[in-house]
Amino acid sequence: MKTINLLNYAKDGWYQAPDGLAEVQSAITGEVIATTGSQGLDFKAMMDHARNVGGPALRKMTFHERAWMLKDLANAIMARKDELYELNYQTGATRTDGWIDIEGGAGTLFSFSSKGRRELPNQRILIDGNMEMLSKGGTFVGQHVWTSLQGVAVHINAFNFPVWGMLEKLGPTLLAGVPAIVKPASATGYLAEAAFRIMIEAGALPPGALQLIMGSTGDLFDHLTLQDVVSFTGSAQTAMKLQTHPVIARESVRFIAERDSLNASILGPDAGPGTPEFDLFIKEVAREMTVKAGQKCTAIRRAMAPAEHIDAVQEALTARLAKVKIGDPREEGVTMGALASRDQLQAVRDAVAELRKSARIVAGNPDEPPVAGGGAFITPILLRSDDPWGSPAVHDVEPFGPVSTIMPYKDMDDAIALANRGMGSLALSLFTFDSKVAEEFVLGSGAYHGRMMILDRTSAKESTGHGSPLPVLVHGGPGRAGGGEEMGGVRGVTHYMQRTALQGAPELLSKIVKQWLPGAEKPAGDVHPFRQRISELEVGYTLKTASRTVTLEDVEHFAHFTGDTFYAHMDEEAAKASPIFEGRVAHGYLILSFAAGLFVEPAPGPVFANTGLENLRFLTPLYPGDSMRVELTVKSKSIRDEEKGEVRWAVYIFNQRDEIVATYDLLTMNRP
Ligand code: NDP
Repeated sequence: MKTINLLNYAKDGWYQAPDGLAEVQSAITGEVIATTGSQGLDFKAMMDHARNVGGPALRKMTFHERAWMLKDLANAIMARKDELYELNYQTGATRTDGWIDIEGGAGTLFSFSSKGRRELPNQRILIDGNMEMLSKGGTFVGQHVWTSLQGVAVHINAFNFPVWGMLEKLGPTLLAGVPAIVKPASATGYLAEAAFRIMIEAGALPPGALQLIMGSTGDLFDHLTLQDVVSFTGSAQTAMKLQTHPVIARESVRFIAERDSLNASILGPDAGPGTPEFDLFIKEVAREMTVKAGQKCTAIRRAMAPAEHIDAVQEALTARLAKVKIGDPREEGVTMGALASRDQLQAVRDAVAELRKSARIVAGNPDEPPVAGGGAFITPILLRSDDPWGSPAVHDVEPFGPVSTIMPYKDMDDAIALANRGMGSLALSLFTFDSKVAEEFVLGSGAYHGRMMILDRTSAKESTGHGSPLPVLVHGGPGRAGGGEEMGGVRGVTHYMQRTALQGAPELLSKIVKQWLPGAEKPAGDVHPFRQRISELEVGYTLKTASRTVTLEDVEHFAHFTGDTFYAHMDEEAAKASPIFEGRVAHGYLILSFAAGLFVEPAPGPVFANTGLENLRFLTPLYPGDSMRVELTVKSKSIRDEEKGEVRWAVYIFNQRDEIVATYDLLTMNRP
């Protein structure tokens, strides 16, 4: 393979370092396949470019526009994925490993794109929670909002997932409207650079949105400010070094860290040999050891089983691991490739040597290369510690390769304490068919783990597995795992935004957040709101309906028509005896139906359909003889595409004394 000269991407142009290049070897042959370096880059100028060019351009776009941009990037990666798979093999990864990295990475962008269009407004500001009433008269209120940070996201990534590791951070960052400078790990940087190049060549990004450093970050940290975020994935040692940089402390720079993690998997006390959960546990531990040759931050490092089952676990795992076929990942039938580099091979051997001081190897041999040549191959290694409390290394040393230690536990308390002895992890899995065991574990151990997967026979088939971080769920963990949090759907986007509590008049705040807030003006007009397209509708525009009286006949008719003859509507004495009603009341659903009858404009037009109700509350009972009227207000609106969009209406139903009978958000699908 021809040696690739990896390039940096700074200020919207490619840059090759003239000097100080490091050589990068193929994980499968040991040959030099790339040179990399960042010497000569002006890091301050890169930060300035992101801040002054990329940030403003991204912040001009709405969440939806940024979400479409993510989709374009993901499509570009998918269209050229074969180029990436070629390089993927050089990292030692199999096709399946590459699928997690490459298509998993694109999938993460797709997921953020879709979340962005479905769950975020087509605006540049994001509302957080409900309006808070701060005054008796309602003229002074509070509303939390998120706005985009005005700095740069610096992403320092690990070697194990060069594509996914980059994209899982870029998805939320770009959706938040923040430019990024990416620094991939050197060992597999050639794959990250190729994926980065595809995104640049897609032409979907505004200038300054993305830059790439293929080597040392130089003096970049000296130029960080309060508006920047550093998101780091890698070793605890490097994280600590970077996190204690004086500028990080002085400027309160946000620092997200994903570090080592001694993830645990526990066989429940109910899940002995012969149960489906036992088989699932064995399968999962073996899979986690061998996928990506165990180089996963979420991989199972500590497998715990009831003392009486530990021999059976050892036997079953050893048998399963014996079937693993190690070799060049391009070869047919190979199920585990190589580690990412010879350095990593040495690091794993060193870690196993540490572990052997208090645990014994029961399968595999770290010193016997399973494949001849200069590649970074190693067999899966299973260790056993019969005295886990007397073996600190098994809880403290992370062998970043196909290595796990099995250990017995005495009872549930012991299992929970051992799981927590990892001092904070990214992912834990528990194999049990007993909900009591699961509950005890979650309460006893939840605070120590970022994610917990509880697997049994009913969920196993569709399970995404112990080790898969998902874009819609948070990825990160406390303590040793770094204390960071990434992804988790919209939560991940807010890691790159600032939450601010706005205070002021509802009318004023409404104009800022582009959403009608209770107490803001409700302008009316001659045109029924159902006759206006989304582009014509004004936020706050209100229809005040006529009123109608609800009679006992209406209640009776509705009860018999629908079958809802609940006592409160039909039995005067029983209704009176309740702590809530003074007598028979109108059905809530009848009130909602009459409300629609009052505000609907029936002819076909800009409103296509009612798509749902949210936040429905019945606040005051409506008695036969009472009357009701409706105020229908345009709360917010969002155009999805050329054919349709969504309008959210604030609906208030009042009685003849102007008390609120019911309130809810009505959602309709409308013509743009
Ligand atoms: P490192 O911490 O050495 O590297 C992680 C990233 O930080 C790389 O991009 C690296 O760049 C960069 N880096 C290193 N030093 C500096 C510095 N002074 N300033 C700026 N950036 C720096 O970890 P490795 O990738 O070598 O992996 C080592 C161990 O980390 C593994 O064995 C494993 O224990 C753990 N790890 C944890 C992961 C997780 O997700 N929790 C994932 C991967 C690894 P460069 O490569 O150029 O040195």
